[in-house]
Amino acid sequence: MSKTESGKKLETVCVQGTYEPKNSEPRVIPIYQSTTYKYDSSEHLGDLFDLKAPGHMYTRISNPTVEYVENHIAALEGGVGAMLVSSGQAASFLSVFNITAAGQNFISLTSIYGGTVNLFSVTMKRMGIECRFVLSGMTDEEIDALFDENTRLVFGETLSNPGLAVLDIERFAAIAHRHGVPLIVDNTFPTPVLCRPFEFGADIVTHSTTKYMDGHASVVGGVIVDSGNFDWTRGGKYPELSTPDESYHGVVYTESFGKSAYITKARTQLLRDFGCIQQPITAFMLNEGLESLALRMERHSENALKLAEFLEKQEKVGWVNYPGLPSSDQYTLAQKYLPRGCSGVIAFGVKGGRKAAMKFMDACRLAAIVVHVADARTCVLHPASTTHRQLTDKQLEESGIGADLVRMSVGIEHIDDIIADVEQALSKI
Ligand SMILES: *Cc1c(COP(=O)(O)O)cnc(C)c1O
Repeated sequence: MSKTESGKKLETVCVQGTYEPKNSEPRVIPIYQSTTYKYDSSEHLGDLFDLKAPGHMYTRISNPTVEYVENHIAALEGGVGAMLVSSGQAASFLSVFNITAAGQNFISLTSIYGGTVNLFSVTMKRMGIECRFVLSGMTDEEIDALFDENTRLVFGETLSNPGLAVLDIERFAAIAHRHGVPLIVDNTFPTPVLCRPFEFGADIVTHSTTKYMDGHASVVGGVIVDSGNFDWTRGGKYPELSTPDESYHGVVYTESFGKSAYITKARTQLLRDFGCIQQPITAFMLNEGLESLALRMERHSENALKLAEFLEKQEKVGWVNYPGLPSSDQYTLAQKYLPRGCSGVIAFGVKGGRKAAMKFMDACRLAAIVVHVADARTCVLHPASTTHRQLTDKQLEESGIGADLVRMSVGIEHIDDIIADVEQALSKI
């Protein structure tokens, strides 16, 4: 497995993070359940407010427990800094809003999480920010034609939820960079254990930590990680970063914070104003998930591949979509970007359509019906009868989610028990 910037392997950074307790201090990160901090002098506090001295002012801006977990995730992704937020949705929104304003636009792949599609196409539109959607099958020329002088970034998802499309990160980074804008990648499904998008040219990474990072379906959260690689001063395209911020005593982020300009602005301006912070107790629970992340991702991927191979051989299964299968049209991209595994999420079609799929779901015993993916327990979802039930079969087909589609999030139980459950459920159809 790849090395991190510290020289240590990723598994080691998962377990140990960057926390180094001093003599007789707690071995495990303490939960600093405090909104408030105390100072020896008003001058020191003044320096904090001017962003001249490091330290904490108020938990809506930063907190020691939260900061520890931010550093842990930044180390895993290989970034210069990270900011934890209240949810994956908050991470997606702030990552884009940090460098966009009314009258501007950005480019996004269509193969992204449905909640993000709503955020980009409905809610942000009401703010005057336009999202221009592109398909990965479009040519570079077709995508280039959508850029203008107000285009601010490109957004995509490493492994899309629920379509399982693999993003060609190098290609989209090249497209973004030749237009002088950054590539933001939602890396929720792979996590840094299976893919580190900065190594392929992405500039900013976001996560819904609610999924594999927590891994126990316990806490909702999100994070934004800054690679520090994008030059925000070039061409004066991002004045919000390279000219004085009137809401912050005229600080110029690129001058005062260099490589950390983007993530510092996100914190001091957007967390301050929107207040969508991650609580210290949540960050602590998330950190417990991070410690076992490498082991879990390995098992999730191994189990999912075995189940996908089993499903491919079943009479009653029409098709199987898993990027780790050689039969998948995503296989070549997966070999490049996800060589260590493709996570635990599988989609497959049951012959007999909607009725057969629902029968299958109801017959599952080990796999629970839940509206969630990516935690330790195997679960199933039938989008056509739940999350997408407003759509007709024809509309479902058009959005790539057939009435027969079952999404399975393969857990870390023993594979024999998972396969036995799927086998008996298929026999009930
Ligand atoms: C779930 C999810 C989100 C939204 O995250 P929440 O924590 O539920 O707000 C964003 N992106 C992806 C890929 C997701 O799976």
